[in-house]
Amino acid sequence: MQLTFFGTGGSYPTAERQTMCVALPAHRVVLDAGTGLYRAAALGPGPMTAILSHSHLDHIAGLTQLHDLFEQGIEPPLELWADSAVIETIRERLFHPAVFPCPPAISYRALPPIGTPFSVRGLKIVRFPLDHPGGASGFRVSDGTWSMAYCCDTTAITAELPPDMTGADLLIHDCYLPGETRDEARRHGHSSAADVAAVASAAKAAAVAIVHASPRIADVQALADEVAAGFSGNVFAPQDGDPFEIGGG
Ligand SMILES: [Zn+2]
Ligand SMILES: [Zn+2]
Repeated sequence: MQLTFFGTGGSYPTAERQTMCVALPAHRVVLDAGTGLYRAAALGPGPMTAILSHSHLDHIAGLTQLHDLFEQGIEPPLELWADSAVIETIRERLFHPAVFPCPPAISYRALPPIGTPFSVRGLKIVRFPLDHPGGASGFRVSDGTWSMAYCCDTTAITAELPPDMTGADLLIHDCYLPGETRDEARRHGHSSAADVAAVASAAKAAAVAIVHASPRIADVQALADEVAAGFSGNVFAPQDGDPFEIGGG
């Protein structure tokens, strides 16, 4: 199964990185709708589903690109799964007439409660809670032959990992700053590289892809190297546009 990282950055876009959007092209599903969402035109004509972790602007700003995506072949409406409070924020704040007066066509679907599996375009998905200001959802995503855990945004939690976060073929995890600035990362509700190494080890992930680096970080590979120093599995720092194979095909 191939993933494509449409956006890998945290907080706001830079010349190198758009904000979070991870695609499962075979299923026409994206996780989060940051500014990297515009790259979904590459999925080609057809419907699309987005699943959102939370309503911070860097994870929803791409929804304002939908009119252009619909012009490029994505079929309206976008099917959008999110917590009911996140849906309310998008409808009433992001698409407030004073902010964005032409709301695009979206079919809203409220996420089921924590721990209740649901199916989207052939994928089995379960959400679990993350530690982040205002709350955020992590997602276990599987097609029955492979699995991944998407954890963005979050401080790294190692004391009691949600079971759905463990044992995945791929852990995609917030990695905002180096370990030496752990306190700053935590203050903003994010993880340091040292934290990610600990959590990836505790989660027994086969591989970890680090995402959502601070826009101030120019060299994400240095963050990956720091994670790799404390985690025995594979560590990747995907760049925008990078494909990634999980589960052997
Ligand atoms: Zn974020
Ligand atoms: Zn956030």
